[in-house]
Amino acid sequence: MLPQFSIDQCPLCKTGLCGIRICGIHTDTPHGLVVCDECEAIWQQPDTTSEHLYPDSENARCPICEAPLWGDASRWATADDCRALGWEQAINENLNADPEA
Ligand SMILES: [Zn+2]
Ligand SMILES: [Zn+2]
Repeated sequence: MLPQFSIDQCPLCKTGLCGIRICGIHTDTPHGLVVCDECEAIWQQPDTTSEHLYPDSENARCPICEAPLWGDASRWATADDCRALGWEQAINENLNADPEA
């Protein structure tokens, strides 16, 4: 599944999208991540010039809460999620997923 909202094309692998994910969705402390949908690079700020990290490819986990990165504790952020995170300014509208797709 493609990210609904992305901030950039991935500066590392050049092919992926840096999608906004929200994690900890069943907790009191949801948090945002930017994750490349191709190479799984993770940024903890909505800024691809900030420091990134790569999770263990066999067992990718959120660097904040250690939930499985692709598990049910997180999802690609919706517009409401982006607003809740305060990250809506970072969205690159040109990269929005086609809502019809
Ligand atoms: Zn990438
Ligand atoms: Zn998390």
